[in-house]
Amino acid sequence: MPLLNSWIEGANAPGCPFPLNNLPCGVFSVGDGDLRCGIAIGDRILDATGLEAAGVLRADPDADVLDAPFWNDFMELGPRVWASYRAALTEMLAEGVDDAVQDTLTTYSVPMAEATLHIPFKVSEYTDFYAGKHHAMNVGTMFRGAANALPPNWLSIPIGYNGRASSVVVSGTPVRRPWGQLKGPNDDLPRFAPCARFDLELEMGAVVGQPSSGPVSVEEAEAMIFGYVLLNDWSARDIQAWEYQPLGPFQGKATATTISPWIVTTAALEPFRAPTPPRERDLLRYLEEKRPGLFDIDLSVTLAPEGKAASTIARTNFREMYYSAAQQLAHHTSSGCAMNVGDLIGSGTISGPDKPERGSLLELSWGGKEPITLDTGEHRSFLEDGDTLALHGAATGDGYTIGFGPCAGTIQPALEDPYAR
Ligand code: CA
Repeated sequence: MPLLNSWIEGANAPGCPFPLNNLPCGVFSVGDGDLRCGIAIGDRILDATGLEAAGVLRADPDADVLDAPFWNDFMELGPRVWASYRAALTEMLAEGVDDAVQDTLTTYSVPMAEATLHIPFKVSEYTDFYAGKHHAMNVGTMFRGAANALPPNWLSIPIGYNGRASSVVVSGTPVRRPWGQLKGPNDDLPRFAPCARFDLELEMGAVVGQPSSGPVSVEEAEAMIFGYVLLNDWSARDIQAWEYQPLGPFQGKATATTISPWIVTTAALEPFRAPTPPRERDLLRYLEEKRPGLFDIDLSVTLAPEGKAASTIARTNFREMYYSAAQQLAHHTSSGCAMNVGDLIGSGTISGPDKPERGSLLELSWGGKEPITLDTGEHRSFLEDGDTLALHGAATGDGYTIGFGPCAGTIQPALEDPYAR
């Protein structure tokens, strides 16, 4: 599919992350104004809440589903409404539409530069997976040795853990270095201390837009996914290493999970579908992929020390995952576990096969043994206070780019001992 031209000129600029082909969903405010649902187009945000109230563009003739600071009520209406809303919006924003339509939509839009972006949906629950094979091999080799790197179940099960919806924050939210219980290799006993091995995990998050009440197939799961965001699963490696056996990560992953502010819809990503890699062990039937479930999305990570320029520290692609979000979601429901509108599914860390493609500092610095060198000449094994870490994502089509907006956070120093009295 080529670039769809819009009468909003900025949307047609080469490299613009928000062309007419994208139309991602976010929540914004201007000044002291209230939070409103918006659609990114070029360098502007369309006020979807205002367009609904004015009767210009409605998802539901009887209910104001966008009269809220989140897209959940809209998502609940389901794939047919998602498609008809997108089609109507595409028509109104396309080059050549009546001047009257252009005037109305201009009235209901604001420059993106003047807006503050908020979390785009109410996160009902958050589950994070461990579904990148290169990441699992790297981490497993460091923790258990190369012979036992992949757990015996890994090639059969998309492994996950139940995270905390309360940890999810939008890009730009500062991230405080956590305290926690940890036991370093030179410690005889565990101690309570600020995390010294604070890390990122480059992931994509799938946003569940439809509920389920029993086991669903991979195809049904596919139809439940409204869209995707970039996701950074901030990880306290020293806390995680001490706590993770036998029930998996807990406090090491609970400090914060940053997501990008725009939900890029599955509809916008359709031209970029890509299959999961060849199976190394046959999957059980309920996990088999009938159509490509991944997407060709270039991903990168930048790190900027306080007051300094950013360096790119990793580049990879969403295609590197071993399991798709639809497979993860199908597995998640296989026990009968109900899913809700607003569930967030973390892909797991995305790493490619080569060293510069690793999606965490744990892997890039090989557990701290091989610090990386930034463009500024500084070295990093793990994140330092004042570092700004950002994830970037782009799917490149025929003359256009589908972007996600920023997914960034700056590390704040640990507090004084929170339990000192
Ligand atoms: Ca993770």
